Amino acid sequence: MDTLLSVENLTVKFRLRQGDLTAVDNVSFTLGRGERLGLVGESGAGKSVTGFSLINLISKPGFIDSGSIRFEDIEITRLSDTAMRKVRGEKISMIFQDPMMTLNPVLTIGTQMIETLRAHVGCSRRQAEAIALENIRKVHIPSPEKRLKQYPHEMSGGMRQRIVIAIALMASPGLIIADEPTTALDVTIQAEIMDLLLELCATEGVGLILITHDLAVVSQVTQRIAVMYAGRIVETGDTQQIVHRPKHPYTQGLLAALPQHSNRQNRLNQIPGVMPSLIKIPPGCSFHERCDLCQDLCREQIPQLNEKSSGAHVACHLAE
Ligand code: SF4
Repeated sequence: MDTLLSVENLTVKFRLRQGDLTAVDNVSFTLGRGERLGLVGESGAGKSVTGFSLINLISKPGFIDSGSIRFEDIEITRLSDTAMRKVRGEKISMIFQDPMMTLNPVLTIGTQMIETLRAHVGCSRRQAEAIALENIRKVHIPSPEKRLKQYPHEMSGGMRQRIVIAIALMASPGLIIADEPTTALDVTIQAEIMDLLLELCATEGVGLILITHDLAVVSQVTQRIAVMYAGRIVETGDTQQIVHRPKHPYTQGLLAALPQHSNRQNRLNQIPGVMPSLIKIPPGCSFHERCDLCQDLCREQIPQLNEKSSGAHVACHLAE
C-alpha cells in the first residue's frame, strides 16, 4: 500500500503562563492510501491536537515544536498559510463533532457546497452544482435539488452531518479526518453515519483518520488503531488484534470499560484515577500512577514503543 501520510516525531506544545504544555509528545505513525486509522484515547490524550496538526490548524498559544508531517510529497509543517489553505479542502478534509462548526447558518446548503468547491477548484457554477448534487446523492439524502435550497436549521442533526460529509468530498480529497463525528448524534444515527463513512472510504478510495474515545466504534470502522495517553502513542497495530488481545494496561482498561464488559451489578468498569496534567507529566511511564502493574522501573524510565510478539507496537516495560 502506498504511503499517503507519514508523521514522524511530532511534538506540539502550548505556551502557557505556567510553562509549556506538551499536548502531543514525539508521535509517529503512517497511513496508507485508502487506509482507515483510529486515534483513540480519553479526553486530553492528544488525539484531536494531533488531528488539527495534520492540517496545520494549531492556533496560538499552540505550536508545532518539532517533527515532520508528510502528505504525499508535501511537508505540511513548512507550508505557508496560502499553500495550506489549498491542501485543506483539496487534499485533506476535516469533519467535526458538531456539523454547525462547518456549516454557515445564514447560507443555503447549495451556496456553501458550490462556493467551497469553486474556492478550491477552477470550475463553473454549473459544474460545481452538478458535483454538489452528485455528492448529496452519495451520502444518501433524498431530493438533492431541494436540499441545495435549504438552510442548515431546516435539517436534522444526522442530515446536517451527512451534508458535512458531502462537503468534505467535494474536491475529492485523499484523506478525511473525522473528529468524534457522531458524538453529538442519537445512537441509531451514529451507526448510520459510521456505515456511510465506511462505504465512502471503499467507493471513493479515500483514507480516514477517525478520532474518538469509543473503542467499539473504532473496532467496526478502522483497520489500524493508535491508542494515545497523555500525548503519546502507547499501543498501535492491527485493529482486531488490539481489540481482542490488547497488550498495554491502558488499552486493556479502555476495553474493560466498554458496556459489554460491565460486571454483574451492571456497573461500568473504570480505570482508577485521572490522566496527569500535561503541564506536569510524571517521570517514567505516564500511566504509572493508574497502573496496577507498576514497578520501580516504570516510575523511572519512559517505555519506548517497541514491537511485541503479537506484531503490535507497545510502550510498556512489561508487555511481551
Ligand atoms: Fe504499567 Fe509499567 Fe507498563 Fe506503564 S510501563 S503501563 S506502569 S506496567
